[in-house]
Amino acid sequence: MANTKRPVIPMQNPRERVNNFSEVVENLSDEMAKNEAKRCLNCKTKPCVAGCPIAIDIPRFIGKIASGDNLGAYRAIKEYSSLPAVCGRVCPQEKQCEKNCVQGIKSDPIAIGALERYVADKYIFENFAPKASSCQPDRLLKVAIAGSGPAGLTCAGNLANLGYNVTVFEALHALGGVLSYGIPEFRLPKAIVEKEIDNLKRAGVKFETNVVIGKTFSIKDLFSQGFSAIFLGTGAGVPRFMGIQGENLQGVYSANEFLTRVNLMKAYKDDYDTPIKDLGKVIVVGGGNVAMDTARVAVRLGAKETTLVYRRSEEELPARREEIEHAKEEGVKFKFLSNPKKILPNKNGRVCTLLCAKMQLSDIDNYGRRKVVEKKDEVFYMDADTVIMAIGTLPNPILKASEAKLKFSDTGQVIVDQETLMTSIDGVFAGGDIVSGAATVLLAMSAGKRAAKAIDKYLKQHRCAICK
Ligand code: FAD
Ligand code: SF4
Repeated sequence: MANTKRPVIPMQNPRERVNNFSEVVENLSDEMAKNEAKRCLNCKTKPCVAGCPIAIDIPRFIGKIASGDNLGAYRAIKEYSSLPAVCGRVCPQEKQCEKNCVQGIKSDPIAIGALERYVADKYIFENFAPKASSCQPDRLLKVAIAGSGPAGLTCAGNLANLGYNVTVFEALHALGGVLSYGIPEFRLPKAIVEKEIDNLKRAGVKFETNVVIGKTFSIKDLFSQGFSAIFLGTGAGVPRFMGIQGENLQGVYSANEFLTRVNLMKAYKDDYDTPIKDLGKVIVVGGGNVAMDTARVAVRLGAKETTLVYRRSEEELPARREEIEHAKEEGVKFKFLSNPKKILPNKNGRVCTLLCAKMQLSDIDNYGRRKVVEKKDEVFYMDADTVIMAIGTLPNPILKASEAKLKFSDTGQVIVDQETLMTSIDGVFAGGDIVSGAATVLLAMSAGKRAAKAIDKYLKQHRCAICK
């Protein structure tokens, strides 16, 4: 009889995983993957594809898994996605492809994300030959990419496949953007990100770290160095704070700083001494994926107690459902309808108490979410040794300060032509969080892919005779 149920995805037991940084969600077995692939109805209208920002031909790759052709499935995904092992792990499939899945009407949607990860993990460490370019190397046009997050990496990979000479300039010493410095090891192992970057190097993409575009080199410098087009994928890495009293006390972090210390300074490894003091009682302020990652990292670093304070109710939590459940299983506590008003110090100037207002939901706001207002005169105190703000991020202001001709929105995002992703400077394109504001990996990849297409079209006017 045909299998009708979605498999229970294997994962580490919560009691064990709170003591390590190993990956929480494990891969499907061959048998589970094949059985799950066989549940796909191969719908003619492909509603799942309509839900995918990079339009992966989902029924085609799933059909190949069902017939035992895993390599064919991998190749089918790679036609659309340069980072399948990343997407299979961190994309919010439940709000995208799986939300549209026809199997989900009467039964459970197909586990599309788990199947993508299944094939990606099988082949990511195989060193397939990179695509050959039809161009002669000495005639290749040079393209510069600023930022090595998913937008920059995708743009770089797509342009290299088209035969361009691509260099990625990254401000930090490590490559990968949020994939490396933000998302923790237990959700996205560094080895996966490093291998995806290695595959780009093998395809000819060059990387230069510790280069800040707007400081080390201006856009004008890059054109003078012979780059014919530039893509800005510099993300939105500057943390927001609430602007309340006490945010400058010792023991208050932004989630960015906290996660960067853990990821890039390797607190997740037993053999590294990390510059994070004993956390004690931790309060994380926020309710998105970043807040959830922060709280789960705090648990693993031995916090005495970790509580997430969110101003709306559980229903409005913007984080992925899976992450919320995992956080609960790992002992993270939640304080809903609560909003910090003040952080109070002890006699040594360190955080010791958080004063919060009780909140209540009211009408729907312009974004379709319930507005939230303070309850009159209802406040309460919470003990805290560490407070971590995870309430969103803004684009880094360096480009705005250094590039007078580049146009920005009032909130600091680079303004682009919606169709071509070209900025106000001819030959300079932009995409990902720097344009959209903090969003998702797949949306950043989708922008990188669209920009590569637009850059190719733009450069065709200047390209060598062979390519024309
Ligand atoms: P980024 O990934 O931010 O990369 C930008 C890069 O540019 C960085 O490496 C930065 O150092 C570099 N840079 C900045 N300025 C310069 C400059 N002037 N010159 C050179 N380089 C520069 N999304 C999901 O889909 N699923 C998730 O589960 C998820 N979890 C997340 C968890 C955390 C903790 C965070 C912070 C984000 C998460 N996101 C998630 C969001 C997602 O990671 C981002 O939307 C995505 O990484 C944006 O990609 P990007 O390439 O635009 O920018
Ligand atoms: Fe398969 Fe679901 Fe897509 Fe239909 S909607 S083709 S069942 S994955």
